[in-house]
Amino acid sequence: MTSNSRVVVIGAGLAGVRLARRLGELGTPALLIGEEEHRPYNRVLLAEVLAGRYAPEVIALPTPAGLLRGRVTGIDRDRRTVACADGSEIAYGTLVLATGSNPVLPPLRGLFTPDHVLPEGVHAFRTMDDCLGLSKAVRPGVRAVVIGGGLLGVSAARALAVRGAQVVLAQQAERLMERQLDPNASKLVLRHLRDLGVEVHTECRVRDVRCVGGAVRSVEMADGYALDADLVVLACGVSPRAGLAKAAGIAVHKGILVDDELRTSDPHIRAIGDCAQHDGNVYGLAAPALEQADVLAESLAGDAGSRYGGTRALTRLTLAGHTAFDLAAFGETEPRPGDDVVQLADATRGTYRKVVVRDDRLVGGVLVGELGTVGALARAWEGAEPLPSDGGPLLHLLTNDGGS
Ligand SMILES: Cc1cc2nc3c(=O)[nH]c(=O)nc-3n(C[C@H](O)[C@H](O)[C@H](O)COP(=O)(O)OP(=O)(O)OC[C@H]3O[C@@H](n4cnc5c(N)ncnc54)[C@H](O)[C@@H]3O)c2cc1C
Repeated sequence: MTSNSRVVVIGAGLAGVRLARRLGELGTPALLIGEEEHRPYNRVLLAEVLAGRYAPEVIALPTPAGLLRGRVTGIDRDRRTVACADGSEIAYGTLVLATGSNPVLPPLRGLFTPDHVLPEGVHAFRTMDDCLGLSKAVRPGVRAVVIGGGLLGVSAARALAVRGAQVVLAQQAERLMERQLDPNASKLVLRHLRDLGVEVHTECRVRDVRCVGGAVRSVEMADGYALDADLVVLACGVSPRAGLAKAAGIAVHKGILVDDELRTSDPHIRAIGDCAQHDGNVYGLAAPALEQADVLAESLAGDAGSRYGGTRALTRLTLAGHTAFDLAAFGETEPRPGDDVVQLADATRGTYRKVVVRDDRLVGGVLVGELGTVGALARAWEGAEPLPSDGGPLLHLLTNDGGS
């Protein structure tokens, strides 16, 4: 292979590693450049490492041949080269951006020191380094405040509580995981966290992080109430990491814009995973990142017909505390007028199942505690096929595990 037909992939996360591995299998080896010190790992399982359930090496991904450690600092599209932080330059024929997301840092007073470093005790929760830093700091009795009550904040709060920290979770919205769950399912997540000893405050906006000598001491709410804190976790969402693309003049909206061939506005540059925006969607989830990597591998290995048509992504979360707590949510979990809804709830067992059907098609659902039917439901939702109308198909969907 000549240097100018080489595929270079920036980012050794879930998408980049999957792409490099698939390309290797298809006989088109790629050069993968990743900045993280650690062996590539499955980011989805970081909370399990923080909870002490898995050692870091357990979540390692099979490392593809041709992994180069380093950070890419610039793209020269005319010369088709990338510049690395160590001063080296690498030529590409096709460049793939798989740079993932950055954590969103909320605009809190006191958060940033003059040299733009987070104060001691304040952590994002995105990388293995974040996870190991938190893991080192957490001890029984440590006072931890988690800011944000989405998937990330709930996972972090649960993991810290399992490690014996006194955890307070501050959520700005009126309920937990409001983007994925309906109010009933949110209540069950709340109950689960409270059972683990987590104090949850909803409709609660944090406005200030107070530090002494560069280390966090407390967190102040908008109403002036202050919480003592030895540790603060920022779990306020993520934004696509599109800085390199933007600086190189590639079209970026929320994420790096790509078409069905995952091609950016530069025909020699593709983008996949959290950093990419396809058909208006920035997914921020593992399943679409992996699907995009698979489609792109086929395309780069010579399958001209390989196209990405979007992913119907299911959110799944397992909170393994003293008792396991599983949930899955997909599509629209709140009905519109005229939709059919079936719900089954068992307050004693803490299980809840609900599906929303519109015009004979499954448009969304949420399952808590009892996921036996999730495979059958996901298939019905992904396929978007009309549901059989043989009387009671909705109940059947919720109670028959469909062999999943
Ligand atoms: C704690 C946590 C829990 C999660 N739980 C779930 C879940 O339950 N379900 C789910 O679907 N998703 C979950 N996610 C989201 C999921 O991890 C992401 O959607 C997925 O990792 C996206 O893969 P990616 O390859 O696009 O990005 P990433 O996995 O973020 O990988 C991007 C890589 O690129 C590297 N990089 C960036 N810029 C450069 C550069 N200039 N030079 C070199 N390297 C660079 C980064 O360091 C990083 O290693 C979770 C995320 C976190 C943090």
